[in-house]
Amino acid sequence: MSGRDRYSRFAPYVPVAERRRKAEAKAKQMAKSGRVLSPVRIAGRQIATTFWGLQWCANLGTYSDYANRLPRGRTYAGNGSIIDLQIADGKVSALVMGSSLYKIEIIISGLPAASWKQFKERCADRISSLLDLLQGRLDKSVLEEITRRPGGLFPGPREMKFSCSCPDGALMCKHVAATLYGVGARLDTSPELFFTLRSTDMQELISAAGANAAVAPAGPSSGDLNEDDLSALFGIEIEAAPAPKKSTKAAKKTPPKKTPGKKAPAKKQAAADKIKASPKNGAPSKKARASAPAASPLHRPSRS
Ligand SMILES: [Zn+2]
Repeated sequence: MSGRDRYSRFAPYVPVAERRRKAEAKAKQMAKSGRVLSPVRIAGRQIATTFWGLQWCANLGTYSDYANRLPRGRTYAGNGSIIDLQIADGKVSALVMGSSLYKIEIIISGLPAASWKQFKERCADRISSLLDLLQGRLDKSVLEEITRRPGGLFPGPREMKFSCSCPDGALMCKHVAATLYGVGARLDTSPELFFTLRSTDMQELISAAGANAAVAPAGPSSGDLNEDDLSALFGIEIEAAPAPKKSTKAAKKTPPKKTPGKKAPAKKQAAADKIKASPKNGAPSKKARASAPAASPLHRPSRS
């Protein structure tokens, strides 16, 4: 009993190795039945190693009300207990193996419109490209604006609501805490999901910078999307975006004209559209799209 904290009194203790074995078995079983899972696998000792992932985890560390829950969740996230984690617009869904398999849902408020507007006004012309933004290769003053607590871009504890199917689910249980750290790990490989989670469009930062370009000359790579870099570093699919749902009638009446002489710009535009479309629609990754978060009844429209 001595190794158990007072919060785990509801369920029997399951050793890590057994939990991991159960997690793997359950994941295999679900995969066999056609469910596409997106597990959190941590290679080293750190949950995250890149800017957005690191800052996400650092932000969690400031949730003093949950200080006694977070370390346990961090351990869970690190040892393969999260067999599925999906990030959509303002929502995280996960399956975490504890003494049984538990279902977790975390709803995160969109960044308040006023805060986002203010951030764009202060910082957009100091962010030279999406690649720099996603890599955290940013001006010191921009980094400060992003990571300021409170008032930056990261959510405070009161900006999230969570639930877990475990007996301890009313409080922040270790499964919810694990899921929160799982988000940090996911941001390491898909930093663009941060903006999805906060219901903001990162592309607006680049657009806003472009609008200010006449006033303040931007850097040499301003607005330049290096497709190879983006896809290699962040797993963003660089491919033709699906046709927008709106204006299908118009599209049928006036099929797009073929301009053979403009192949390269068309391709680049498609890639830019894809990137632009992804975060706002909330399903930028193959994984997230596979479980159709956009079709979820909890999918929220963009903040008004
Ligand atoms: Zn739980």
